[in-house]
Amino acid sequence: MHLPIAVIGAGTMGNGIAHVFAQHGFGVTLIDVQAAQLEKALSIISKNMDRQVSKGLMSAADRTEALGRIILETELASGVKSASLVVEAATENTALKLDIFRKLDQHAPAGCILASNTSSISITRIAAATSRPGQVIGMHFMNPVPVMKLVEVINGYATEAAITQTIIGLCRQIGKISCVVNDYPGFIANRILMPMINEAIYSLFEGVAAVTEIDTVMKLGMAHPMGPLQLADFIGLDVCLSILGVLHEGFGNPKYAPCPLLAKMVTAGYLGVKSGEGFYTYDASGKLCEVSARFK
Ligand code: NAD
Repeated sequence: MHLPIAVIGAGTMGNGIAHVFAQHGFGVTLIDVQAAQLEKALSIISKNMDRQVSKGLMSAADRTEALGRIILETELASGVKSASLVVEAATENTALKLDIFRKLDQHAPAGCILASNTSSISITRIAAATSRPGQVIGMHFMNPVPVMKLVEVINGYATEAAITQTIIGLCRQIGKISCVVNDYPGFIANRILMPMINEAIYSLFEGVAAVTEIDTVMKLGMAHPMGPLQLADFIGLDVCLSILGVLHEGFGNPKYAPCPLLAKMVTAGYLGVKSGEGFYTYDASGKLCEVSARFK
């Protein structure tokens, strides 16, 4: 059965999540406060599906049908009114997410599962903003969503076992593999990944090695497909800073303190791929160009 899905936030993750649900037969309402972002997301989904068609992973007819299943919407209330599952993928900001979940609680039908793609914010805390914490769960997709197999499924303190089972089944239906974890800061993926990225930034900050050397050591030495500095640019330096903040505050342990260089780059608007420059520079299509002149 293909339940109607609403995805909130049409950025990097939201467009990918809408893509995979539509590709697997689900009707998707993609919601964002910015109309221009919605148009951009649809064009990215269309291009990414074109790539799947050219690689023989999808037929041209399936692509047209999948795109036809996506509706764009700027109003949350009307966008979620008939959803069976909402996946929230808006900006990583606690106050913003709590506000969205309060509104979802008002406007989503009874029985609708409310999932968050948050990278680090407590699912228990998000769930407590609603009157239905048992139906709130973490559904943490990996970037790029159409390519990456994993969904980290996070049980909040009150998440009902039946809701977790439904989400595991849905992940299977969209060709993903789920891993169920408990709700602690950073869950598993970012609790392990972010300290590595932070350490790579500290290594650059302290002059231990240059950008290319740091990334090459991890690519060739540890068989990582992408070095940690390039990965940080890809995730978004603002997102990395925000996750480290959650780890630092949540565990009260100074080992998670974000590197001052990361904080400075985010303050200056150097956010990685999405702003065109981070540790590397990127062209308008997001293709890597070279190491940023600031680190040469
Ligand atoms: P992004 O900045 O690319 O996109 C966020 C989108 O949310 C923007 O289009 C913005 O207009 C929209 N938005 C903001 N407030 C909104 C509101 N009230 N209602 C509707 N839309 C709103 O961010 P992203 O990288 O896609 O991250 C989204 C979420 O996914 C975050 O929680 C992030 O932690 C998580 N995440 C990100 C990655 C990654 O690699 N970038 C990976 C896994 C999870």
